[in-house]
Amino acid sequence: MTDPLSFVRGDFADIGEYAAVQPISLLAAEIGMDPEEIVKLDANENLYGTAPVIRAALACGDYNIYPDPAQTALRATIADYLGVDADQVVAGAGADDLIDILLRLTLPEAIAIPTPTFGMYDFLGRVSGARVIEVPRGEDFEVDVSGIAAAVGDGARMVFLTSPNNPTGNLLSAEDLDVICGLDAIVVLDEAYAEFAGSSLIGALKQYPNLVILRTLSKWAGLAGLRVGYGACDPELARRMMAIKQPYNVNVAAEIAAQAAFANKETIFKSVERIVAERDRLTTLLAEFEWLHPVPSSANFVLVKVSGPSGADLAATLRSKGVLVRSYDRDDLRGYIRISAGRPQDTDRLLAMLKEVSPS
Ligand code: PMP
Repeated sequence: MTDPLSFVRGDFADIGEYAAVQPISLLAAEIGMDPEEIVKLDANENLYGTAPVIRAALACGDYNIYPDPAQTALRATIADYLGVDADQVVAGAGADDLIDILLRLTLPEAIAIPTPTFGMYDFLGRVSGARVIEVPRGEDFEVDVSGIAAAVGDGARMVFLTSPNNPTGNLLSAEDLDVICGLDAIVVLDEAYAEFAGSSLIGALKQYPNLVILRTLSKWAGLAGLRVGYGACDPELARRMMAIKQPYNVNVAAEIAAQAAFANKETIFKSVERIVAERDRLTTLLAEFEWLHPVPSSANFVLVKVSGPSGADLAATLRSKGVLVRSYDRDDLRGYIRISAGRPQDTDRLLAMLKEVSPS
């Protein structure tokens, strides 16, 4: 009998799955609550929901025809939003798709990742066969620029930077980007949360042909479930990315929703403003707990150092009460949880639960 596993790549023999968040319906059933009662602050989603203008646009779509593989209209809209040329833009099924496209395009022997950071760089890097070089961040989670340079010296051909960084919430400085872009590597700057920071380093694209900026509609536009993100870079690099991507990587519904989001961005930015205000209120209120130490954030979430229980234990206790926050199975984040900023009522429920479970 032929063993199907004998055909699987040797480095995939004991590959683990990406630890994604659990669907709310499954959790609600497990803990015996209504899905509406669950406070979902674990995945940095926009809890104001799908904007009515986007719902209306989706209701009128025709879905019997394949999407445009050249993404002509969508790339033009994104280019206009970013202030770049359309031939610099590539759209995908979320920013995750762009990470995958870049890795498949370049097949780097090694990649450098300032940790802690978003887990997908490590996951997709390993799937593409790259050696992952972790470069620990400093005390304030700043990028260790000389550590990144050493990793490039050690063979890293792609560097993943994130600003604001997930889960630490801090920004990358223009000076650090400048030095890192001078290295002999493709530099991917993931700005998935830029709309919450109100700042971006996209202007650096003019200077650095080895820089790729990633963005998404998952966060500010509330389209995480539809999967639409994009990258912007040197037009020649973008041309190769367009050539190797899945032809229909952005589905018609995602494109319609994205176009509606950009066309109505002023309205949707009102929910972004509310989320930013809520993040600041959440940070202030968390700091009033002696055992919680929030890290200042420029994104739509707050990393919190927990004294007493481990992050995982606190997250499990909150989860049993219907409040979801993110914890981590990594040494550098074991004492932390990450809480997404939601609506005022979400913060209120969270704080009530934190008071109940207070260790002192
Ligand atoms: N980049 C970062 C830094 C993120 O935190 C996330 C979402 N967790 C993504 C990218 C993924 O974005 P998308 O939903 O567009 O794939």
